[in-house]
Amino acid sequence: MRYEKPATAKEAAGLLAKEKGAAFLLGGGTDLLVKLKMGMVEPDLVVDVKHIAKANEIQTTAKGFSIGAAVPSARLTEHKALQKAWPGVVEAANLIGSDQIQGRCTLAGNLCNASPAADSVPAMIAAGAKAVIVGAKKRRTVPVEKVATGPGQTCLGSDELIESITLPKPGPRTGDAYLRFIPRTEMDIAVVGVAVCVTLERGRVKTARVALGAVAPTAILVPAAARALVGTSLDDEALEKLARACSAACNPIDDKRGTVEYRTRLAGVLAKRAAKIAFARAGGKS
Ligand SMILES: Cc1cc2nc3c(=O)[nH]c(=O)nc-3n(C[C@H](O)[C@H](O)[C@H](O)COP(=O)(O)OP(=O)(O)OC[C@H]3O[C@@H](n4cnc5c(N)ncnc54)[C@H](O)[C@@H]3O)c2cc1C
Repeated sequence: MRYEKPATAKEAAGLLAKEKGAAFLLGGGTDLLVKLKMGMVEPDLVVDVKHIAKANEIQTTAKGFSIGAAVPSARLTEHKALQKAWPGVVEAANLIGSDQIQGRCTLAGNLCNASPAADSVPAMIAAGAKAVIVGAKKRRTVPVEKVATGPGQTCLGSDELIESITLPKPGPRTGDAYLRFIPRTEMDIAVVGVAVCVTLERGRVKTARVALGAVAPTAILVPAAARALVGTSLDDEALEKLARACSAACNPIDDKRGTVEYRTRLAGVLAKRAAKIAFARAGGKS
């Protein structure tokens, strides 16, 4: 196995493009190293993104934020402006594993590991995040909801890596929230994860985005759930409609953490709670 630590994303893409065998990007390694040790993957090449200077930065731009692919979760909490703008994304990233895991794990790694239960992914989707993807020949920007194509599968080509994740600048009176349910108090995989982002106008929801995790092969955006909220000030009827839309969008697995019925119902319950938090964060009064 070869280990490479390129200095730019372009150089990383070049290394990937030349490799004939199995190549893997290494972010925090909290998924990849576990798989390596368990013999689940046998890379010929590991390309470490942590030596790419740009990948280690959180940049605040006129358009919002750019979070480098090597930035660990723990740094998101320390970034006051990001925390203020997107508390739901930051809280989701800070539910991943433990302090030790958060000192290493990245948003890009969480996304590219492509677990349906990845915690930061629904929150990024609700916030309208995009992945900046660099290939040997071209760059492209893809909405986060389009990156995972199935469990463990992404839309990335064999010569591509994520350089950064962008989050838009939230409009006035915007709030987001992420909630997950796990059978233990921490260090477990989400049975259901729900993220809601709302923007208010004159006390009512003007726009909304609702995303679910762990209830389908990938995290999903649920436009019908968002429509249930638009034009309302989160009255009981709107919340019931939201819950029904979320449950209707579920296509979960049955496993020891939860049955299909349980996950389907839970998605609605958590969506109502997350919507109330997002609404309050946006300055709404119900
Ligand atoms: C004890 C423990 C607890 C955990 N708890 C949680 C949890 O509560 N919630 C949760 O969602 N996850 C959890 N995880 C999983 C893991 O920590 C997360 O998925 C994490 O965000 C992965 O990020 P990473 O940077 O460590 O990824 P890595 O392990 O470095 O990479 C993961 C995958 O993404 C690819 N990759 C990495 N960076 C890039 C890039 N820039 N471009 C393209 N592909 C890339 C890698 O090749 C690999 O396939 C846990 C893991 C452990 C070991």
